[in-house]
Amino acid sequence: MTLPPLSDRPFGEIVEAGGRLMLRCASCGRLRYMRQTFPADARPAEIARTLACHRCLSRDVAVVVVPPPAPGGRWPAEEG
Ligand SMILES: [Zn+2]
Repeated sequence: MTLPPLSDRPFGEIVEAGGRLMLRCASCGRLRYMRQTFPADARPAEIARTLACHRCLSRDVAVVVVPPPAPGGRWPAEEG
């Protein structure tokens, strides 16, 4: 059995797998890690619909699921 990709799994499973969420704004290009928590059964696409960009207030945002880096690897940098 193959698990669906982390980006299709609910928030609780993403956290359990050691992943983190980033919020990407299509309007101003801002990409930031999110520190807040969400309902365990909320999926990334649903979470994105409830959020807006902190800087430009655009609602054209997407949640990016970042899997944990390989041992010795690094988390991707924030942008924008
Ligand atoms: Zn923005």
